[in-house]
Amino acid sequence: MTAQIEVNTFHFVPTECNLCGETKSKERYTISKFKQGELHYVTCDNCGTAYQNPMPDQASMQAFYHSQNFFNCTSTGDELTGYRDYDAEEATRQANARKRLKEIEALFPKGKKLRLLKVACGYGTLVNLAQTKGHDAQGIDFSETMVEGAKQRYGIDLIHDDFLTHDFGDETFDVILLYGAINNFLRPLDVARRAFSLLNPGGLYVVNHVWLNSFPERLMGQRYWIYRPPILGLFPRQAFIDYHLKQGFALAQAKRDVQYMTFDKFFGYLQFRPLIRLADMLRISRLGFTIPVPGYDRVFLRKPDEST
Ligand SMILES: [Zn+2]
Repeated sequence: MTAQIEVNTFHFVPTECNLCGETKSKERYTISKFKQGELHYVTCDNCGTAYQNPMPDQASMQAFYHSQNFFNCTSTGDELTGYRDYDAEEATRQANARKRLKEIEALFPKGKKLRLLKVACGYGTLVNLAQTKGHDAQGIDFSETMVEGAKQRYGIDLIHDDFLTHDFGDETFDVILLYGAINNFLRPLDVARRAFSLLNPGGLYVVNHVWLNSFPERLMGQRYWIYRPPILGLFPRQAFIDYHLKQGFALAQAKRDVQYMTFDKFFGYLQFRPLIRLADMLRISRLGFTIPVPGYDRVFLRKPDEST
C-alpha cells in the first residue's frame, strides 16, 4: 500500500444536481465529523437526488483516493470514510466476484466468451476471475495503488486511466460493470453515455448504487454510513433508472444487491463502534454472510440491438 498522505482536506466548489442538472435545492444535512471538511448535502427540487453542494473538486477527490484514510481507517482511528480496511476485505471481494460473474454469464447465451470491462476495478478481483474462466476481461482504475496491487496480487495489467477520457481505440464490449462507485462520480450520466458508446448492440451496462429514502437511510438519517466524504450523490431508485433510459438504454433488470459481507464491514457500515470492538474480541471480524444489502440496487441496462 503506497498511500502518500494520511488525510487530505477538501476544497469545495458550488455545483448543480449531478443527475438532472437542476440548480434549485433544499438543505438536507450538514455533517461536521470528518477531517476532510464540513459536508453539505442538499436535495434536488426536480429529481429528488441528494448531492453535495458545494462539492469537493476533482483535485480533492484524486488526493482522497490516494490518502491512507481512504484505504484503512482502522489504522488512523478515524470515522469510516472509504474502506475500513481495504486489504483485509479482499476475500470478501473474491466471494462477490464469483457470484456476480455467474449472474452476468447467465444473461448471455451459454458458454459465450464475453468481452468484459470492469470500471473502477480495484485490485482486479473480478477481472482476474473472468480471465481464468476464458473471458476477454479488462479493468480500468485511476488509482495507481489499485493498478500496482492488481499486478502484485494477480499478475494482471489493468488500464491506469480515467474511464471517461481513456482512448479505447475501436474496442467494444459485451459487458461494462461498475460496482460500488457510481455514487462517487461527479456525473453518473457521463459514465452511462461513455458505457453506451463502448457497448456492442445487445450489450449490458451493470451498475449498482445506494439509493435514497431506503429504510436504513430514513432510520439513521445523517448518521447513515453513506453520508461520508467521497459520496457526491445519492439517487432515488426510479429517477436513477429514468435518467438512464433517456440515454437510450433499455431496462433489463433492477434488483436488490446481494452481497457477501464480513461482520467487520457490516458493523462498520452501521458506524457502531462497540459492535466492531465486540467482533474483534470474539474474533469473528473476518467471518462473513450473504445478505441483500438494504438500500442497494443493481441495475442492468441493455443497449438495444437494432438488428433484431
Ligand atoms: Zn436533480
